[in-house]
Amino acid sequence: MSSSGLSTRKGGWASWPVCRSMGRATSLVSVLVCALTLLAWVTVGAAEGERSAADRPDERRGIHVMMGSKSAVPYAERLIEVAADLKLNWIVLEVGSNFAYQSHPEVAEPDAMDAEDAHRLAKLARDKGIHLVPEYQCLGHQSWREHVGALLRAHPEFNEAPDLDPSAPGFYCMSWCPNHPDINALIFDLFDELIEAFEAEAFHVGMDEVFVLGHCERCKGTPNAELFAKAVNDYHAHLVGGRGSRRRRWATATTMPA
Ligand SMILES: [Zn+2]
Repeated sequence: MSSSGLSTRKGGWASWPVCRSMGRATSLVSVLVCALTLLAWVTVGAAEGERSAADRPDERRGIHVMMGSKSAVPYAERLIEVAADLKLNWIVLEVGSNFAYQSHPEVAEPDAMDAEDAHRLAKLARDKGIHLVPEYQCLGHQSWREHVGALLRAHPEFNEAPDLDPSAPGFYCMSWCPNHPDINALIFDLFDELIEAFEAEAFHVGMDEVFVLGHCERCKGTPNAELFAKAVNDYHAHLVGGRGSRRRRWATATTMPA
């Protein structure tokens, strides 16, 4: 939402109404829709909260929220407090490029939150008994149609399909190439920074709605399922094999091209 910089996804880590914001390119309509979505969620969540005993820490009750610019940090703090009141115990915070990365400053959106903000959110969440999980949206969702995210703006060489017109009817989001020889080294630095800043025990790699795959010369001829699986395995190896963090993948085959 442009008013708070936050937008919401909720419901068992799966599909609920999605309110997307891309930088400042949000409309009053999207703000209203987001507000109504959050209101609906709060209403449902409150009813669930009344039934959810606080002594059930193994039960995951969560919400997925998209982070905006640094100005959204106070709203994120308020969200954590409200979530705690509703007896939620997990929040996935889709940070992506809205973070001032030290390792690759060029892939950060302007006016992004920093590590100090993340530490403060992490401490508040911990004090409230909430697992705060940072997310970097991987592979797909690197643009909203022609509105390109910071990573591909800074590194257009990673674009899986630079020859496709993102303003063409039916085009959804750009992807990065999972076979580019330099992509993993860069994004693993971003993963590591987010994990450290949020003191995270879990990490969310997104990967939903990947509609552009198998397009470039490196990937052409390889089944999309194999390309997708390679990306999952690469990220898993780094996050779980390399750091011991738990990885939460959110993607479905139905949102991939066949
Ligand atoms: Zn490729």
